[in-house]
Amino acid sequence: MTDQPAPAPDTPKSHGRLAVRPTLRPRELMTNTPDLAGAWTAKIITLFPEAFPGVLGESLTGKALQEGKWRLEKIHLREFGIGKHRNVDDTPAGGGAGMVLRPDVMGNAIDFAMDGTPPNRDDWPLVYLSPRGKRFDQATARRWSNAQGVTMICGRFEGLDDRVLYHYGIEEVSLGDFVLTGGEIAAQAMIDATVRLLPDVLGNAQSIEEESHSHGLLEHPQFTKPAEWRGLPIPEVLMSGHHGKIAEWRQKMAEKITRERRPDMLKPSSDDQR
Ligand code: SAH
Repeated sequence: MTDQPAPAPDTPKSHGRLAVRPTLRPRELMTNTPDLAGAWTAKIITLFPEAFPGVLGESLTGKALQEGKWRLEKIHLREFGIGKHRNVDDTPAGGGAGMVLRPDVMGNAIDFAMDGTPPNRDDWPLVYLSPRGKRFDQATARRWSNAQGVTMICGRFEGLDDRVLYHYGIEEVSLGDFVLTGGEIAAQAMIDATVRLLPDVLGNAQSIEEESHSHGLLEHPQFTKPAEWRGLPIPEVLMSGHHGKIAEWRQKMAEKITRERRPDMLKPSSDDQR
């Protein structure tokens, strides 16, 4: 303890040159998770880096992040912006509502993000979150989890200048048939689905093998204690201890639920040939 009173939390502190000359890459954005060589990495280009890790910082994905089993690198699009105000957007060519993210600004952010990543996109996909994209699914999560990492571009406003997409051959991926305000929530959902497939991230690997979408079926119903709740008993077979019968019941229920809710999943589709 010293005799000096502690500064009020909002009192600006002098950091010499740092206080007057903002660095292009603030240190805290670069070193926010343990940097273990070789860990699967999500690089996120966003105007809202503070939105990450968000919910990914909780529970099993959060623990795995802290343990360095995967890494998060936030790339703040604003730092690549133009002029005193670091502008990142401009009005749409041809007129219309809203603003469009500039290709020169995004291009510089992408070059920065992709620097040092493997040249083959199978090893490091470059993705734009977009309602026009191919719908994200378990197969995509599995494919990304087999790569060394993913770079994700979160759009805002009316989206991104289209030239960026074809110049870089960017994969457009959608979270579903609805429009979000920005790509950040979609990015977090997709990273969650991908990271939980990495070795050692979920404690119980078997739960991955049995769950919905991993065998082309939705999961069977789950129950836990108490054995009877509000007059509703747990199905008898699950209390029988007979593993063969339990497995058979679960398979039947998975098929029934899939048939009722998602008959489209039972039809052979061109996706199955991949
Ligand atoms: N004008 C665009 C929508 C822009 S929404 C259009 O009609 O296609 C703003 C941003 O939110 C997009 O750039 C995208 O990054 C993100 N976004 C919106 N809906 C999304 C979805 N369903 N999946 C993934 N990203 C989405």
